[in-house]
Amino acid sequence: MTSTLTAEQAQAQKEFRAFADRHVVPHADAYHRTQRTPPEIVALLASEGLLGLPVATRYGGGGADAVTLGLLAGELGRACSSLRSLLTVHTMVAHAVARWGSRELKETWLPRLAAGESIGALAVSEPGAGSDAAGVTTRLTRDGDSWLIDGHKTWTTYGETADVFLVLGRSPEGPTAVLVERDTAGLSTELIEDLIGIRASMTADVRLDGCRVPAGHVLARPGLGLSHVVGTALDLGRYTVGWGCVGIVDACLEASVDYAGNRETFGTPIKDHQLVRQMISNMYTDARAARLMCLEAGRLRDEGDPGALAQTSTAKYFASTAASRAAASAVQIHGANGCSSGFPVQRYLGDSRVMEIIEGSSQIHQIGLAEYAFQERALVRHRKAAATPRSEGR
Ligand SMILES: Cc1cc2nc3c(=O)[nH]c(=O)nc-3n(C[C@H](O)[C@H](O)[C@H](O)COP(=O)(O)OP(=O)(O)OC[C@H]3O[C@@H](n4cnc5c(N)ncnc54)[C@H](O)[C@@H]3O)c2cc1C
Repeated sequence: MTSTLTAEQAQAQKEFRAFADRHVVPHADAYHRTQRTPPEIVALLASEGLLGLPVATRYGGGGADAVTLGLLAGELGRACSSLRSLLTVHTMVAHAVARWGSRELKETWLPRLAAGESIGALAVSEPGAGSDAAGVTTRLTRDGDSWLIDGHKTWTTYGETADVFLVLGRSPEGPTAVLVERDTAGLSTELIEDLIGIRASMTADVRLDGCRVPAGHVLARPGLGLSHVVGTALDLGRYTVGWGCVGIVDACLEASVDYAGNRETFGTPIKDHQLVRQMISNMYTDARAARLMCLEAGRLRDEGDPGALAQTSTAKYFASTAASRAAASAVQIHGANGCSSGFPVQRYLGDSRVMEIIEGSSQIHQIGLAEYAFQERALVRHRKAAATPRSEGR
């Protein structure tokens, strides 16, 4: 489905697909099995300019529009959700720096992030704070021209290998977001293994024990770390995760169609059984619907439309639940083979579970989407009332 893309976007998608098919698809099961992302593939993504795709060209990035970034996330998601997660967290950090960093932070960090010389990770969640990010307890204490940071972050995707962390903590002014470099004294990481999905994502616990960072490393200003800095980053993260889920649905559909055409039961390929066809038609519908929702989110983002926020949440919610449905059906269609590591659908199943938890769980999105529905209705009523002359209204 490329009819809504410009010629440049369609060409970019072709190139992303070719890259993923050549360099990622053949190795994704091994990444999953070994629970490691080889540095060579990260270096290749960087050298192809893919990690800096949305960063402005004046900082050495690709200056790509949101739709093109989404297409890349979709193709990486179809190939390997761990690598798509790398793109997600890295671009979240770059986006936050670009939007909220001082001139000095932008000039220092954006060229490095754009080139993939430095990998960024988002350290918001803590053992006691996930969905409720306002509950973080990591402390930022002012000490002259520096901040001292103490806290424990967890579930930090690529935390084991990242070079710079966007940390959300709490200062006397309120939630505060700060950049912390890996080699800061007092920062240590520990790999979290045996996750259900995105198993190659080098996810880690991050401990900050008296880490000292210059005052200028704070983004926006103290007190705006959640509402502005992390809020902006999460919005982009939801967008690329939504697209990554489009990729998972596509991968499930391709694997299921191929398998159903070859596997025979009762003297006929299983693709001829209506109940199998039903699962495939549901996947086919979900694939198209999720793609269109993500494309619309991208279009609104590119136009700077304020409706992009609600559309991004809608798209992430729909695409991640669609990925769960598709992966469950893909495993079902593969029978016992779907339960084994010999087929990638097992990987898609674990990855899809994670997609409904990260960047706002399905429940958190549902709560927010209902709120959008109420707000939109209230706005319609307000506009109607404002347009009705007083005499008619009585
Ligand atoms: C593989 C993986 C990678 C991750 N990567 C990162 C990362 O890079 N950086 C980072 O900061 N964090 C990361 N996370 C953490 C992720 O953001 C959190 O797991 C997520 O925000 C949910 O928080 P929680 O796990 O604490 O669940 P909780 O917030 O404890 O929620 C538990 C359950 O309760 C539901 N729930 C919570 N509140 C409500 C409510 N108000 N109404 C209804 N239901 C509710 C949730 O939907 C969920 O089902 C990652 C997590 C995973 C699994």
